[in-house]
Amino acid sequence: MTTYVHQFDTLAYKGKVNFPTGVFIDGEFIDGAHKTTIEVINPTNGQLITKVSEATAADVDTAVHAAEKAFATTWGLNAAGARRAELLWKLGQLMETNLEELAAIEALDNGKTFNWAKLVDVAFATQTIKYYAGWADKIQGKVIETDESKLTYTRHEPIGVVGQIIPWNFPLLMMAWKIGPALATGNTIVLKPSEFTPLTALRMGSLIREAGFPPGVVNILVGYGSTVGAAIAAHMDIHKIAFTGSTLVGRKIMETAAKTNLKTVTLELGGKSPNIIFDDADIDQAVNWAAHGIFWNQGQACSAGSRIYIQEGVYDKFLAAFTARAKAIKVGDPFGVDTDQGPQVSQQQYDRVMSYIDSGRQEGATCHAGGKRVGTAGYFIEPTIFTDCKADMTIVREEIFGPVAVIVKFKDEDDVVRQANDSVYGLAAAVFSKDITRALETAHRLQAGTTWVNCVNQLHAQVPFGGFKQSGIGRELGEYALANYTNTKAVHVNLRHTM
Ligand code: NAD
Repeated sequence: MTTYVHQFDTLAYKGKVNFPTGVFIDGEFIDGAHKTTIEVINPTNGQLITKVSEATAADVDTAVHAAEKAFATTWGLNAAGARRAELLWKLGQLMETNLEELAAIEALDNGKTFNWAKLVDVAFATQTIKYYAGWADKIQGKVIETDESKLTYTRHEPIGVVGQIIPWNFPLLMMAWKIGPALATGNTIVLKPSEFTPLTALRMGSLIREAGFPPGVVNILVGYGSTVGAAIAAHMDIHKIAFTGSTLVGRKIMETAAKTNLKTVTLELGGKSPNIIFDDADIDQAVNWAAHGIFWNQGQACSAGSRIYIQEGVYDKFLAAFTARAKAIKVGDPFGVDTDQGPQVSQQQYDRVMSYIDSGRQEGATCHAGGKRVGTAGYFIEPTIFTDCKADMTIVREEIFGPVAVIVKFKDEDDVVRQANDSVYGLAAAVFSKDITRALETAHRLQAGTTWVNCVNQLHAQVPFGGFKQSGIGRELGEYALANYTNTKAVHVNLRHTM
């Protein structure tokens, strides 16, 4: 079984981390059944960070058995809501205590800046766990009036063993969004982090143990999608799967669920979110938000405002200010004190983004700014802006998942709503205008699970998040997420004992 030891000695963070990186099953870190490992690569320099135990389909089976046992004995209906709340709250506290360490691991593994990892990833993940601690003893059904001879009520019961598969762009945060509601409602979990960014999930395994969760309640298996992910999706004793990742893989998960045991499926998938700037917007603010919308987290945000629609009257002014803003972004070491943007997560992702930049040029868009690699080591890409974009271009239609903004001019409300909604995706959208009626009317016409007015990327543990159209099925966060993890049972009691 492997352990990861690392001494951080950066300007932003100094400290030592030391945690086991085995397959976390039944409360123990063990070797995977095949005793193989996965190499974890540092995106800042392409070098090996460490090797972690690789799980395979056999480990999924072992983990499901452990999770079933825990569900039947120490968790599920055997752990009162107050107890589940206590453990979740304790986990949240441990995350708070280890905030800097978790942020440092995330920045190292993913390439996001240490400052943002602290501010958003770890802080929001902690808030999410604590928020769901608050729900754990408030999972309740209803008494439903039928007739005077009957008492009829509903119970919201945990489903059992749930499978959860998460991506690499917000590894810790996506884990918190998944495990928070699942644990609050009494389910046990088999979770697969991305093979590209497994480290914070494994560190969380130690914290979950330290918080006192019974063995088997949370099992964490680092492995490849085609093996571990596919085995979770196909497992006959997993009755619910929650997936965050690409639309392509989401489709496969749903197909597998349909072909096996019809497990319920929730999907948080890709996006190509429109960001609409009206003539009457506060341009300085709109520029700041729009830059944050597309360039934050290296453009690797599902809700990234990657299609920027600018009304004719402010097109030149906005574009000039937005370009200056993009050029001022400091790309470099995620642990640099004033770094804004780190590397893309992997060589594969770097290649993918660069191929989209090539396609933009080939299909006739103008690469107005950026478009090149930064440095020679690691996976850094300049903040990039394309103009002269047409609706049928690949860069306008497909999710690039990198620091690439696509700029389009529009005439009026009808024109922009039509263009914005012309997408297979419907995850998020933003509208910038000082006219509240115009802003809200437009926001209501957009086909998106989240619409922001005069801001972007605002997410809260209390507020549901999810997609319209091919951006997903179901909602995470808030009270809405609890429904994903409970079965509703109706109980009919005959009070008169007669037919
Ligand atoms: P991905 O779909 O390639 O992988 C996501 C996860 O699925 C990984 O853990 C991967 O190992 C696993 N996987 C891969 N093939 C699988 C298979 N055949 N069966 C089961 N599991 C499999 O996505 P990614 O590249 O890790 O993440 C980027 C994508 O995630 C983007 O499309 C982004 O928009 C999306 N995303 C969406 C949200 C949201 O809330 N809607 C949030 C974050 C990321």
